[in-house]
Amino acid sequence: MGQIISGKELSKTIREEVKEQVIKLTDQYHRAPHLAVVLVGEDPASRSYVKAKERACKKAMMESTVIIKEEETSEEELLSIINDLNNDQTVDGILVQLPLPKHIDEDKVIDAIKLEKDVDGFHPLNLAYMHLGRQAIYPATPKGIMTMIERSNISLKGKKALVIGRSNIVGKPVAMMLLKEHATVTIAHSRTENLKAECLASDIIVAAVGRAKMITEDMVKEGTVIIDVGVNRVEGKLVGDVDFDAVKDKASYITPVPGGVGPMTITSLLQNTLECYERRVKQ
Ligand code: NDP
Repeated sequence: MGQIISGKELSKTIREEVKEQVIKLTDQYHRAPHLAVVLVGEDPASRSYVKAKERACKKAMMESTVIIKEEETSEEELLSIINDLNNDQTVDGILVQLPLPKHIDEDKVIDAIKLEKDVDGFHPLNLAYMHLGRQAIYPATPKGIMTMIERSNISLKGKKALVIGRSNIVGKPVAMMLLKEHATVTIAHSRTENLKAECLASDIIVAAVGRAKMITEDMVKEGTVIIDVGVNRVEGKLVGDVDFDAVKDKASYITPVPGGVGPMTITSLLQNTLECYERRVKQ
């Protein structure tokens, strides 16, 4: 059986490391890193994500401010909140929980976040810097995936990596990060012909689609590293894009769902907040 990469366990370790660093730096610079999260609307999933982020901040001894606004909030008002947070010297990171209500232009809001405080790494300049290999804040989920690979001592150099999914928040950035680590990267999507052949030719598969158990045992060669980003609810249970029970015996490493990539996303957010804080206090 392949080695299971537990995002839950790894997260515990890294969050502890972050906390130690936070305590040390708070002592040195006389204030803790501060994350501001803005939530617009009532979406229950978004509310629970925001709660989880707030809890994780507190546990890591960071300060967190959550601003909750009603669904009807105008774009203008939201932009003004962001402007205030941009100018607030005590705030190190700003995160606007997505998706936003339909009447608000998401791109406009993301563009308004000060680059140095963009802890989600979604600002177009941050993404551009990442593509250019310059110093950048990496989006949380792809960063978490790379941390899992790195901490498991999986070598990427010269390996064939297949990323299934080309979204701006997962597929595209993770493909860039794999490339940066010298993998030979293919990106598959809904129009890809013969996905099975692409999978069988790959040493590493990152599945980020959102279709329950679409990667089956016959699509995977012996020894493949499998990173399952998908989150799907089937009969009340969370499952990934990979048929875990069938594939785990063929994989060399595999991430479970739940308890895999999911917890790493918030862990990366904490790391990004710490990074933004460090850059600001050390200026
Ligand atoms: P999107 O819906 O934005 O993108 C899905 C991608 O999958 C698209 O590029 C789409 O192709 C591709 N796709 C759809 N059907 C197929 C198919 N049959 N074969 C190959 N590719 C296909 O999703 P996200 O990137 O936002 O998220 C992907 C999954 O990861 C979801 O399950 C989501 O819940 C989960 N997720 C988990 C996170 C975590 O923290 N664990 C964080 C973020 C996401 P095309 O572009 O052609 O439409």
